[in-house]
Amino acid sequence: MKKAWIIVDMVNDFVTGKFGSEAAAVAAKNTGKALSLIGDKLPVVFTLDTHVPADPEFMVWGEHCLIGTSASELDMNVSSYDGYIIRKRRYDSFLDTDLDPYLRMHNITDLYISGVSTDICVAHTVAGAFFRYYIVTVVKDLCASIDPSDHSKALKSMKKYYGTRIINLHQFLAEVL
Ligand code: ZN
Repeated sequence: MKKAWIIVDMVNDFVTGKFGSEAAAVAAKNTGKALSLIGDKLPVVFTLDTHVPADPEFMVWGEHCLIGTSASELDMNVSSYDGYIIRKRRYDSFLDTDLDPYLRMHNITDLYISGVSTDICVAHTVAGAFFRYYIVTVVKDLCASIDPSDHSKALKSMKKYYGTRIINLHQFLAEVL
């Protein structure tokens, strides 16, 4: 059993920018604190929502996380920490990216997943991990949605449909440190 931590889309547009929220800012701050405590005890992967101009996803959300702009770069609370960077254009961090080969290359079987938004890119990434037979734990305090009720509903759905283990930050640190 080898573990890694996937931090989903802690990018400027989702923390302080176009789709930013107070909940996301708190999650980003706590993610930074956790990163500083954990150091090199757990391999980290950052996924960064990054779109080319006129990406079809803009029909749903409008333009966001445009490639080459600060919108698709990591939030300042987490940007100074080491981690493997994966640029993604879909909600699911596994889709059309290097994530699955990268994890398999390092014999990783168990994933901690956190980030924003709980109900969109985190939930789809959890599904992608489940379908690829990873054992998944979500750290709920390090996740956020714009609407808090979407956050809670998504956590329930992940547990119900994918058997995802849901833990809080305290439990996460106790397990890793
Ligand atoms: Zn997007």
